Amino acid sequence: MVQAPLEASKIQISKTSTPKEKLPNDKLVFGQTFTDHMLEIEWTKEAGWGTPKISPYHNLSLDPSTIVFHYAFELFEGMKAYRDSNDKIRTFRPTKNMIRMNQSAERIALPTFDNEELLKLIDQFLLIDESFVPKGNGYSLYLRPTLIGTTPSLGVGSPDRALLYVIASPVGPYYSSGFKPVALEATDYAVRAWPGGVGNRKLGANYAPCVLPQQKAASKGYAQNLWLFGEEGYITEVGTMNVFFVFKDESGKKELVTAPLDGTILEGVTRDSVLTLAKEKLPSDEWTISERKFTIHEVFDKAAKGQLVEAFGSGTAAVVSPINRIGWNGKDIDVPVADGASGELTKDVAEWIRRIQYGEEEFKDWSRV
Ligand code: PMP
Repeated sequence: MVQAPLEASKIQISKTSTPKEKLPNDKLVFGQTFTDHMLEIEWTKEAGWGTPKISPYHNLSLDPSTIVFHYAFELFEGMKAYRDSNDKIRTFRPTKNMIRMNQSAERIALPTFDNEELLKLIDQFLLIDESFVPKGNGYSLYLRPTLIGTTPSLGVGSPDRALLYVIASPVGPYYSSGFKPVALEATDYAVRAWPGGVGNRKLGANYAPCVLPQQKAASKGYAQNLWLFGEEGYITEVGTMNVFFVFKDESGKKELVTAPLDGTILEGVTRDSVLTLAKEKLPSDEWTISERKFTIHEVFDKAAKGQLVEAFGSGTAAVVSPINRIGWNGKDIDVPVADGASGELTKDVAEWIRRIQYGEEEFKDWSRV
C-alpha cells in the first residue's frame, strides 16, 4: 500500500460545546492555559498520514509501553501567532519552523510531511481558536507543534505509528515592564551539544539534561547557562536561545557576532532574522556581521579592553534577552547595558522584529496572514 501524504483538504472539524473562559491579558502565564481545540494527525507505516482532525482540547490515551515514553521519540516546534491592528492573525516565518520540524523528524526516524499542508492546517486551527489570540504589543498565541512515536512496544527501532499534534497557549510579553537583563554562568562542566550530536535538532531529549545545570547556575545567582564547548571554550548558545555579542575594535568599527551553524547550534528563526535584518539595516562601513567561532577567552579579553559593547540572547519566546553579567572561572564581567536595561542594538533588533510580527512593516514574505 502506498503511504498517503499529509493533506490539509481532508480536515475534519468538531467544535467544543463548552468553550473555556478567556483570561485577561495580565493573567496569561507562558504555557499554562490552552485554547479550546487541538489539531491532530495520526500516521502509520502502512497507510501514511491519516485524516487531520481539529477537536476539543483533550488528554491523550497511550499504552504505557509506547515508544515515546522510553526512547524519547519526540520533537517539537515553538512559533507564535500575532494579532495585528486590523485584527488579522499573522504567523512569523512559519515555513522555517516546518523545515526545522521535518529535519528533526528525519533525524529520529519519525515521518516527514509537506510543509505547506501542515501550515494550511495550522491556519485553520488558528481561525477556529482566533479569539484566543490576545491583542496588544508583546501578546501572542504560542503554537506548539509536536510529533511523537506511538508504537506500543519496548523494542528500540523505527516507530511504525506516530502522532503529530498542535496545541496553543496565549502568552504575554516576556518583559512586562521594559527589558530585564540577565546574568549568565559560562558553563563548561556540562555540555548542551557536541559535533555529530543532535544539538541542531529540536528534540525533547536535548532539553531535560539542561535543567539541572540551569538550577545550579541559579543557585549561584545566574539566571541561565552560557553553554561553552571544548577546551577552547567556544561560546555556543545561552539557555534555550541563540546568543549574539557586539564587539568594537580600536577604530570604533563594530562587529555583531554569533556562533556558526556547525551542527551544535539550533538554527533559530530569530537568529536568522537578526542576521538578515542587521545586514539590511546596519551601515556596512560601521558594522561587520559575523557567524564565526569565538570563545569565552575572547569575550573576557575584549571586556578587559573596553571592547565589549553589548550581548543578547535571541529566541521566539522573548525575541531578544539582554545580558548584563557573565561569570566564569570564579570571575565576573559586566556586559554594558546602555540605558540600564539593554544595549542599543538589542533594543533596535527587538523593535525591527516586532514591527514585522505585528504587520506594521512588511518585510519579504516573513509575516503570513
Ligand atoms: N536554541 C535553542 C536550544 C532553543 O530551544 C531555541 C528556541 N526554539 C532557540 C535556540 C531559538 O530558536 P528560535 O529563534 O527559532 O525560537
